[in-house]
Amino acid sequence: MAVFWSSALTFVNARVVLPEGRLARTLRIRGSRIDGVDVAPDKGDAIVDLDDSFVFPGLINAHDHLELNSQPRLKWRERYDNASEWFADFQPRFDTDPALAVTRPATLEDRVWVGGLKNLLSGVTTVCHHNPIHRPLRKRFPVRVVTKFGYSHSLHIDGEAVAQSHRQTPSEWPWIIHAAEGLDDAAQSELETLDRLGCVSANSVFIHGVAFCPASADRVIDAGAGLVWCPSSNQFLFNATADVRAFDDADRLALGSDSRLSGEGDLLDELKSAHVTRQLSAEGLARTVTTGAANLLRMPAAGKLAPGAPADLTIVRPLASCPFDSLVGASRSDLRMIMIDGKPCVAEPALAPAFLATGVPTMSARVDGNARLVSRWIGQHVSKMQLRERGFEVH
Ligand SMILES: [Zn+2]
Repeated sequence: MAVFWSSALTFVNARVVLPEGRLARTLRIRGSRIDGVDVAPDKGDAIVDLDDSFVFPGLINAHDHLELNSQPRLKWRERYDNASEWFADFQPRFDTDPALAVTRPATLEDRVWVGGLKNLLSGVTTVCHHNPIHRPLRKRFPVRVVTKFGYSHSLHIDGEAVAQSHRQTPSEWPWIIHAAEGLDDAAQSELETLDRLGCVSANSVFIHGVAFCPASADRVIDAGAGLVWCPSSNQFLFNATADVRAFDDADRLALGSDSRLSGEGDLLDELKSAHVTRQLSAEGLARTVTTGAANLLRMPAAGKLAPGAPADLTIVRPLASCPFDSLVGASRSDLRMIMIDGKPCVAEPALAPAFLATGVPTMSARVDGNARLVSRWIGQHVSKMQLRERGFEVH
């Protein structure tokens, strides 16, 4: 009888970044889960040599709007004082301004797929999409999409109805809202309003927090709530960003790319924008896209490499001796493989045996000019729907 794929896959000569900061040399995957670290391969395992590459948990993007990634970022003033002014500028143009071509690609499914590809190609395996979980996101999709959360847009869009949304969200799920997105008094007073409405609780997650003062940070942290930091979006709109150090110290911080309406590019670009502010070390930045995000999003099995955890991996070429410097310095071309649930999705051709071992058919692709293999179901969808994610082609 022909054996099409192996019982397990073991990566060897790896540098596997474990939660306690130790580096393991091997990582064994069985089915969709991590089976062991620093274990010898079993007889019959497929073995893939990683040549000293760093293996990170699949990155978590804690904030995006997946359907808004097909257009360049746009603004109509040099600098805003509050996100509400930016909204007022772009909403009347939404369907009429050719630069705001959010209606292309034509369908919602195509648009969310472009957002999915943006995330996947930047090493993201889980994304928190801040909008309804549209039907295409419930079907087979390039990345894992968080589904167990409640959300409101913001106080300036939803008003005091945010209180009902918070109340209706189970306390074990995160409740997520844009807050303090600006520099003016209105932005500064939002936390107080949210507090008065009973919306500052242990499951509250605030996005942006540009106007948070040290007392606001203390209030959020004391409540057990947290912050999603989107520095490139903030810099673009306000020429300023949040002071996040207290949130990192309390391990209540995650990073989000936001959509390309205001965010720079993808989560790797966001790590670089965050690094430029010199608020966190590279290790602290790595936490914001792994364990920090998993904490805020209440996904205890995500963001770490441990036996029993889902085999979601982002494998990074060693750009420096430090794994975290390598991650923060990485571009999409430095990602050697992205794997979700034990199945490779995109990888260098040199890692083709991992696709073979896990029974994943492939197509040839290019990412920023570099040859890649992509799982066939993704490649075929991209080809058939003629999806255009910048720098990504399938053949
Ligand atoms: Zn947003």
